[in-house]
Amino acid sequence: MAAINKKYDTLFLDRDGVLNKKIDDGYVLKEEDIEILLGISEFLKFIRSQFSQILVVTNQRCIGLGLIDYNEVIKLNQSIDKKTGSFIDYFYVCPHLNEDNCVCRKPKTGLFFYALEDYPIDFQNSWMIGDSVTDIIPAKELGLRTILISSGSNPIADIHIESTKDLLGLPEWE
Ligand SMILES: [Mg+2]
Repeated sequence: MAAINKKYDTLFLDRDGVLNKKIDDGYVLKEEDIEILLGISEFLKFIRSQFSQILVVTNQRCIGLGLIDYNEVIKLNQSIDKKTGSFIDYFYVCPHLNEDNCVCRKPKTGLFFYALEDYPIDFQNSWMIGDSVTDIIPAKELGLRTILISSGSNPIADIHIESTKDLLGLPEWE
């Protein structure tokens, strides 16, 4: 049940590039690959009371490539949650490759609808934070407000910031 005293409904987050450092030309495959980004734990701690739930929606094609199995990714997700303060309610993972033509690999919307099966989500009063245009596209399609963390100047999202360190200072949370 969404609490009526919450300012917003659901905060959706991408994983790599938002919670932990994205590995260039590679994947987070083991514990040592997890590097939590600056400011994200403080942000989640501050923001938690404004949202009914915080959910991660993440593409992990490394599973489809056979580099890691699904259960190992779940363990890494649990570790990322712990390292960022245990504020995340659930991680939704797409394990597929592009050529699998699944419904869940972002920029498709499937992961958001999987979340909707578990939570009474009001997309219109929810936010998505991602570091890639493919995070922003499905969120916009569903009516979420969007934040893109990127040094580029792609005008697709409602809010653009350069670093996770900039999240805490946004006027939207005041
Ligand atoms: Mg990412």
